[in-house]
Amino acid sequence: MKQDLYTFIDEHRQEIFDLGDILFHNPELGFREFRTGEIIREYLQKHDLKVDREYCYTGFSVTIGSGSPHIGIIAELDAIPTQGHPCADPVTTAAHACGHSTQVVITLAALTALSQQISDLKGTVTLYFTPAEEFTDLEYRKKLVQEGKIRYLSGKQNMLAQHIFDDADCIIHLHASGDKRYHFSVDSVLSGFIHKKITFLGKASHAAVLPQYGINALHEATLFINAINMLRETFVDEDMTRIHGIIDDGGNTVNSIPDKVVYECYVRTVNADVLHELNAKVTNAAKCCAKAIGGDCIVEDTPGYLPLHQNDKLNEVIYENILNFADPKEVKWHEYSAAAGDVGDICVFKPIIQYGYSGISGRIHGPDMHIEDPEEVYITQAKIVAGSVFDLLSNPEIVQQIKDSFTPAMTYEEYIEYLESK
Ligand SMILES: [Zn+2]
Repeated sequence: MKQDLYTFIDEHRQEIFDLGDILFHNPELGFREFRTGEIIREYLQKHDLKVDREYCYTGFSVTIGSGSPHIGIIAELDAIPTQGHPCADPVTTAAHACGHSTQVVITLAALTALSQQISDLKGTVTLYFTPAEEFTDLEYRKKLVQEGKIRYLSGKQNMLAQHIFDDADCIIHLHASGDKRYHFSVDSVLSGFIHKKITFLGKASHAAVLPQYGINALHEATLFINAINMLRETFVDEDMTRIHGIIDDGGNTVNSIPDKVVYECYVRTVNADVLHELNAKVTNAAKCCAKAIGGDCIVEDTPGYLPLHQNDKLNEVIYENILNFADPKEVKWHEYSAAAGDVGDICVFKPIIQYGYSGISGRIHGPDMHIEDPEEVYITQAKIVAGSVFDLLSNPEIVQQIKDSFTPAMTYEEYIEYLESK
């Protein structure tokens, strides 16, 4: 009975809130989620659940039940660097300012509730804990690649390359939303992106006495940033193009003409067809602006994430469960978002959804992000996730329809080729 799931979650309310607090105060960056993994394992042990598979350095999964259908659930483990967040790690500045810790708690509560009834329900449920969603801390990750610990820079990219999701028929994911205008978002489209590191090269010389012998790399970068701003008028509104960056290295000393400036940016859009064209425009602007000042630049591209397109039939199941806790007016449908996530890569291979939930306050990725309403975040969402899985296991014909409605957009070979493209 679905009501029994709700009752189980209600009865474990305090334990769920406590786990939420512990994880929110233990933020770790991607592929460093070791303590987070221990906390989850301690919880699993308490509820007679076991890790059944470990993968991709810090990732692991828990499976209950057996046979068909097989429903996957995803929870992201990592935090994001957030200077000034009260719960930030003093060394790495990691904080759960993207709310991933709440995903862990919600899905664990849902899985534990489902485990009480799994012998009556036919089928399998796997909760996949996925490392390193935020595309950050890249030097550390590149080192892990060199050491052979991972192959790619994000958790789900590695998991796809290792075929971790192959057995799942469909996958449920959810993510905190900072938008106060509604309580839930369903069927949003997320952006895809390419990460760029541009190193502008010039020539050092005394900044005051001999500037005529120098080539100013900071001027190359400044010209480039202006060129990007001028290109913005060529962007089509519906594509939701975003180019945003930071200067990682702005010069060596103020006394010298800067001979090296490093600019790091994302090129994002919801339109996968124009992503590479936009990226080529940005590369061209960087090269031409560097040359205009007499210098040069090195452009290093890393494929980021693919746009997320969700499965309609699976969203119908989620929506029905959301309506047990919300009015239709509180649900935003079909939003186009400039946000991106590596769930976008999964939608190439599997029917997946990611719905948005509220109950948090402050700015997502900002130092004031915090859990405002634990009831809405943890209890309501655990019931929605558990209820949706219950419906899918009770109605295997719906899972069959979900599978029938889906066609993979790439082969795994094409995907690996894309990940390894420069
Ligand atoms: Zn996130």
